[in-house]
Amino acid sequence: MIRYIFITGGVVSSLGKGIASAAMGSLLQARGYKVRLRKLDPYLNVDPGTMSPRQHGEVFVTDDGAETDLDLGHYERFTGVSARQSDNITTGRIYQSIIEKERRGDFLGATIQVIPHVTDAIKEFVLSDPGDDVDFVLCEIGGTVGDIEGLPFFEAIRQLGQELGPERTCFIHLTLLPYIPAAGEMKTKPTQHSVKELRSIGIQPQILLCRCDRPIPETEKGKIASFCNVRPSSVIEARDVGHIYDVPAAYHAEGLDTEVLWHFRIDDAPKPDLTRWNEIAHTIHNPDGEVCVGLVGKYTDVPDAYKSVSEALVHGGLANKVRVKVRMIDSEQFDDEHHPLDILEGVHGVILPGGFGERGAHGKMRAARFARERKLPCFGICYGMQLSVIETARHMAGIKAASTTEFGPTDEPVVGLIEEWTKGNEKITRDENTDKGGTMRLGAYPAILRQGSKVAEIYGTSEISERHRHRYEVNRGYIEKMEAAGVVFSGMSPDGMLPEIIELKDHPWFIGVQFHPELKSRPFDPHPLFASFIEAAKVQSRLV
Ligand code: GLN
Repeated sequence: MIRYIFITGGVVSSLGKGIASAAMGSLLQARGYKVRLRKLDPYLNVDPGTMSPRQHGEVFVTDDGAETDLDLGHYERFTGVSARQSDNITTGRIYQSIIEKERRGDFLGATIQVIPHVTDAIKEFVLSDPGDDVDFVLCEIGGTVGDIEGLPFFEAIRQLGQELGPERTCFIHLTLLPYIPAAGEMKTKPTQHSVKELRSIGIQPQILLCRCDRPIPETEKGKIASFCNVRPSSVIEARDVGHIYDVPAAYHAEGLDTEVLWHFRIDDAPKPDLTRWNEIAHTIHNPDGEVCVGLVGKYTDVPDAYKSVSEALVHGGLANKVRVKVRMIDSEQFDDEHHPLDILEGVHGVILPGGFGERGAHGKMRAARFARERKLPCFGICYGMQLSVIETARHMAGIKAASTTEFGPTDEPVVGLIEEWTKGNEKITRDENTDKGGTMRLGAYPAILRQGSKVAEIYGTSEISERHRHRYEVNRGYIEKMEAAGVVFSGMSPDGMLPEIIELKDHPWFIGVQFHPELKSRPFDPHPLFASFIEAAKVQSRLV
């Protein structure tokens, strides 16, 4: 029997609902249950693929090629369960499918309405394709209670609560208990109002997860319990912790998983095995040293834009028992040839993340050149790899005009759309009005690693599968010239058509990958490339 846990948020956004849901999933998992996590996003975009990282943070890509919300990254990192296309839905996608059906005449003349058509589609999504032997499906509703666009989602889960009954559904509400210094008090009123709002649309939460920066006095817990109609032990303190990977153990200590099980009347659950989380927390809080990595990107003022990369760096640190300090460096400032690069002097490694467009790209190439010439560990991801290829083509292989057609037409399309390498890019006209969603190579693809290469040694295997999200490809027509100059094409697509990995021969650690390895890294299973990169940065830190 599958049970459903719905996680909603109130009072303010950015309370960490994604991490709370992920941590809850990991706790149930630690008790031996099989979990699945899903995100229901009330916005109108069909998927977050077209949204600016500035507004919505990074786009998380699944193995099956879906462009999804970054919370799915938290779910994967906390539970190790690979998310699927069917784990993220938006209002836009729901309306798209309903309107398609309506145009086909599938509704046989009926009037299409939010209730029941939209709510039915949401319910269908929640109940569909749960996977094998799953015990709990955790569904996080994006946004905050009271948002107009969230209403159909709240109505759908309310109906599910009725239809499946309390033995199969549980509603958890995440709220904020602000501390008002002038009054010297923690305030419960916003939580009361938020629960009142939920109850007014027919949802009585069973558990309240209360974000706060200090302990909640027992009297206040009692007050919240009676005003919000929950039992006092279901008012769970979710106090700020030092690190996100402290959250599962902290929630367990406050009784979250015990309350969830009590609610479902499960009294024979094994005690949770939290060894994995305790070990991670121990390493995070007792590192053997620190390395500093410079992340040269365009959205350095938006921490969520590089969420998975930053997390994978933490995991690389865990593998090497060091703390990784990430210095966010704006690549656009380096676009100006005269802007000094001295901010890169003190870092022990440079990471060039993915990106789009010409702005900041020249700056990334200058950073790649700096790392190459100074023998500083350098890790290029997706665009970071493509730009490293252009930089080395220009300055090592002597192809002065080397460029990517992403910047516009070029005589030397070292990076371009596949049809551009074969036909010559001037013949390609792009229709600016085409659908901007899903026009990329998306999802998991295999690659074959060259025997004896650095990456083959790092991965410890000759065939890998990694996730992609890009339109352009490195042009294999340049391989011969570039290899002669010392750029090794150490990973290729199985048919030998697409370069997937490059590394530099005479450099301690310079690797560029066309895919996004950060998406598959976990705290308890750091990605080998990130572990190896941080190991190289650690060596570098001892040299300086
Ligand atoms: N802009 C590049 C492309 O579309 C790289 C994309 C990325 O870094 N994700 O191919």
